[in-house]
Amino acid sequence: MLRPFSLITLLAVAPMLFIPASVGFIAMMAIQSEKVVFAKTIKQIEQQSIESKVAAMRSKVDSIVDLAAYRKSVIQFDLHQRLKQRVEQACDIAHNIYNQFSDELSEAEVQHIIKAAIRPHSWNNGESFIWILDYDGVFHLAPEYLRHLEGSSIIDFKDAEGREVIKEEIEIVTGFGEGYLWDTFTKPGEPSGQQYKQLAFVKRFGHYNWYMGTGEYLDTAVQGMNQSLLDEISKIDTGNYDQLFVLDTQGTILLSSSSPELIGKNLSTEDALNATKKPTKAFKYEWLDSISRSDAKHIYVKNVPNTDWIIGGMLYDADVKSGISQTLTTLTDQYEMRISNMKSVSVLSFVIAIILSLFLSVSVHRRLVSFRNQLALKNHELEHLNVTLEEKVIERTQALEQANAQLERVATTDSLTNIQNRYAFMNVIRLEVHRSDRYHSQFSLIMFDIDYFKNVNDNFGHDVGDCVLVKLTELISSGLRDVDYFCRFGGEEFVILMPYTPLEAASETAERLRCLVAEHTFEAIEHLTISLGVVEHIQGETVEMVLKRADLALYESKEKGRNTVTTIQAASSSE
Ligand code: GH3
Ligand code: MG
Ligand code: MG
Repeated sequence: MLRPFSLITLLAVAPMLFIPASVGFIAMMAIQSEKVVFAKTIKQIEQQSIESKVAAMRSKVDSIVDLAAYRKSVIQFDLHQRLKQRVEQACDIAHNIYNQFSDELSEAEVQHIIKAAIRPHSWNNGESFIWILDYDGVFHLAPEYLRHLEGSSIIDFKDAEGREVIKEEIEIVTGFGEGYLWDTFTKPGEPSGQQYKQLAFVKRFGHYNWYMGTGEYLDTAVQGMNQSLLDEISKIDTGNYDQLFVLDTQGTILLSSSSPELIGKNLSTEDALNATKKPTKAFKYEWLDSISRSDAKHIYVKNVPNTDWIIGGMLYDADVKSGISQTLTTLTDQYEMRISNMKSVSVLSFVIAIILSLFLSVSVHRRLVSFRNQLALKNHELEHLNVTLEEKVIERTQALEQANAQLERVATTDSLTNIQNRYAFMNVIRLEVHRSDRYHSQFSLIMFDIDYFKNVNDNFGHDVGDCVLVKLTELISSGLRDVDYFCRFGGEEFVILMPYTPLEAASETAERLRCLVAEHTFEAIEHLTISLGVVEHIQGETVEMVLKRADLALYESKEKGRNTVTTIQAASSSE
């Protein structure tokens, strides 16, 4: 349990500690939350910038892929037209010769002229030429480097992929008259390991069982166009941090906007090829790490459909971040300013809180001390009041007891003679009758009346009468025992109850009293006598009965001439 002093100190000091601590804590929390929010905002801005740049880069790559696909489709269309044109031209020449000479010359001679006329038709430094085969696969017109095969069947010839392309060609011309097919060949004069995709067009000649065909390697067809496309792509403003690159499915770098020195070099493209299988997703791509920057970057690659081109875009996170550094610096400055302001406000608030709480504490302390003092004062007053109250209660109780005693006395005492009155006597005699009935104790009564008292009043005045009454009472009282009850029964009539006193003794006392009065000299009137009646209470007798007998005895004394004692026995009366 705390002492009042320490409790008051604690209550007074509490605001001084609690308020500044709360203010400090709230300020710290606000600054901390501001820091967290700022860090989050910066991260979000960087993330959003990178995401938007990556999205822009992806859409740029997609557009270039679409452009390249379109250009390449145009080239392929041209290639188709060109091949068909060349074969149709050769067919026209052959038809003209046939029409011109078939009637005059033998079949072999006509065929010879046709072959001679068509043989010079070649393009791309001899890479493309017109060939003539028959439906049995016999080579009738072969290019220079396959000349040795002329006249023999190459029906079982397979291209680099193992396809029996001669049989496929024969199926086309016998089935449809003409048609295109793709095959893969080694170029003349090139090492056999290198395979090239070639588009071929074959057409039925219509005479003999010949068909003619020509082909052109795709790479040759698109060579010029590729370079102009690459130039076009390289001119596309890479702008926003991203860098474009083009490579082929062999891994040869065809274009690199960031590192032109890499063009023509071959790099592993496994990742790039894998990436083109999910072309909608930017991915982390590490293949340039060894030759370029190794920090975090986003790379997005996409394959140009039906070609060996892969177009990619690359974006360094750091470049994007440095690009928005100005914005971030501004934000950081604003943030630092905010934090600095918050710190100033916090310190100010803290100081104000300390001052306020100090005032509060002093005020609380003062009030509590004053309250405690008032409490002590009130306590003291209360204690005093309590004591006073107790004293008053005792005083009042005593006064009440005195008043009660006075009342009792007044109620039971005769005001003139100061002896007991009739009311008091009746209580005593009732008790004595009770006692007598219960314990068979005896008591006697002496009833007496002043003789001719009326004359005293008449002759000497009422005041003298009163004085005589007082004096007589004193006289009788002096002649009685302490245990006897003496009372004024009414007017100038008195009664004496003598407990444990038989009739004889009572009678004797009566006589003694009679003499006492008769022999006394009263002031002014000198002589006075009294008449007395004496009875003893009989067992079973009521108060009224015994009083009645006493009254009878007194009456007898009056009758006998006054100044006499009459004793009434239980059964009979005697003088
Ligand atoms: P007796 O008894 O002998 O027959 O004659 P008596 O004159 O005494 O007759 P009674 O008893 O009739 O008269 C009593 C008188 O006592 C009447 C009354 O004026 C007077 N008396 C009664 N009480 C008082 C009192 O207190 N003071 C005074 N002065 N007189 C009283
Ligand atoms: Mg009388
Ligand atoms: Mg009388």
